[in-house]
Amino acid sequence: MPRILLIGWDGADWRILEPMLEQGALPNLQALIDRGQKDVLRSTVPTHSWAAWPSFLTGVDPADHGVYDILETVPGTHKQYPVTYKSIKERTFVEDLSAAGKVGIYADVPLMFPPPDINAKVLAGGVLPKGRTYTQPADLPEQLEKAGAPWVINGMSWTTYRNRAEPYLDEALDITGKRIRASEWLMDNTDWDLMASVWVSVDRTQHALSNYVAPDHPDYTKNHKTRIGLRVRDVFAQLDDAIGSFVSRTRDDDLVLFISDHGFQSVTRTIHMDHLLKQFGFLEFSASNVVFGPMQWGPVRKVARKAYDFLGLHGKVSLPQSVNWSKTKAFTTIRSTGEGVSINLAGREPDGIVDPADFEKVRDQVMDALSSFVDPKTGRKPVKAIYRREEIFKGKHADTAPDILMEPTETYSLTHAKSAIEDADWVSGDHRPEGVIVAAGPGVKAFEQPPMLIDLAPTILAALGAPASIEHTGRVLHEVVGADAKVSHAETPKPTVQIPGMPTGEDEAAVSDTEADEMEEHLRGLGYIE
Ligand SMILES: [Zn+2]
Repeated sequence: MPRILLIGWDGADWRILEPMLEQGALPNLQALIDRGQKDVLRSTVPTHSWAAWPSFLTGVDPADHGVYDILETVPGTHKQYPVTYKSIKERTFVEDLSAAGKVGIYADVPLMFPPPDINAKVLAGGVLPKGRTYTQPADLPEQLEKAGAPWVINGMSWTTYRNRAEPYLDEALDITGKRIRASEWLMDNTDWDLMASVWVSVDRTQHALSNYVAPDHPDYTKNHKTRIGLRVRDVFAQLDDAIGSFVSRTRDDDLVLFISDHGFQSVTRTIHMDHLLKQFGFLEFSASNVVFGPMQWGPVRKVARKAYDFLGLHGKVSLPQSVNWSKTKAFTTIRSTGEGVSINLAGREPDGIVDPADFEKVRDQVMDALSSFVDPKTGRKPVKAIYRREEIFKGKHADTAPDILMEPTETYSLTHAKSAIEDADWVSGDHRPEGVIVAAGPGVKAFEQPPMLIDLAPTILAALGAPASIEHTGRVLHEVVGADAKVSHAETPKPTVQIPGMPTGEDEAAVSDTEADEMEEHLRGLGYIE
């Protein structure tokens, strides 16, 4: 039976990879393309990792797995927790593979904390609270340590390295090197059917240093041959070496998949969506930012925050400013990328002020303001496309989606600014929907229809002959697995291991308030929250 090696480069985009391939700088990726097929892989809306990787894991859109942002709100409150594996409200393919007796290795796949209880080796990816079990089996870190290939969690908090590219690159190359060695050991010491490993250094580096590596960035010409420019290319070369090393551990009939969860665009101007809403008169901030807001609801949080700042663990970062809910009609609900805004609707939001009878009118006003907004410096419109929730989301969790969805114009980020709109500062790249895929293996043909991230789960199950317990929105990529391959359906769908519904309190949440604080600090370092 063939096996699958899946290598994910978080945030990889052909805009950046193709020029490197042409220069011969990614020989192992080139070899994979030469014996396979490459294409654009369409991400999810919104286009960030915390919504995209759950779509990879489930084969359904965010409206069906319910994860839209890096934080989820406890219904009826302004209380928010970092999302975890438990936030994914649909069964994942990793559980179906395990139920079919297939052995997986999952190395740094985001949103796999807390690790599911499956027959697999899991090193959970994403942002992890320290001191908690993040692996399956639980003693995997000790096994790796003993083998001389220790795993390292978290790291590469690029926003905390503001204007310190070299120390950031030192850390990115060091952590990634260690993770590569641990992954090689896992491949060598596991009888695996699926090896899925995700590499985040590309995403983090492209956020901060696209101006050294993206030929369409205006500073590229002066930057790319500098010492930093060369070291940024080392980030890609290191991962290209890892492709060579992993592929050398496969057999001829194995399927190799190379993907990204979203693409990337160059950024020269940034927006702060809440400040922009304030400028339009839809939002008011509280006079003092120590008043509890969505990000700071209790004394525990403030104490933890002070402790982190005191210890200097995370550099100088600004505290989030609280919203004055009694004067706010619209607010940002996809904080990580600014792509989502919701109406402060009475009866739905805890301090909602917009009468349900006025909902459509207010939403239209907000959409008009945002879509017609012109950057005074460039004369361009930062919002490229804007949608009502129901135009994008149809699934069973559509009611918890933002009311308004946006896509940024090229060279704009809808987040990362300190004021409504300003020049990009220590951010030069942000997400876009066009990711990458390369498939290589026996019988792989050119894609006839555009492949999507939600197609991976059914494709992996079909390739490994494991039944699915859910209906996927994505399709089996027949171009990859052959015309006859199908996903069979388990006779009685296995009950999902997750508790359906949002966490209603600390008891049911995957993480404690203190751990949520700690995770938020890492998320802040990754630029996903202010
Ligand atoms: Zn990113």
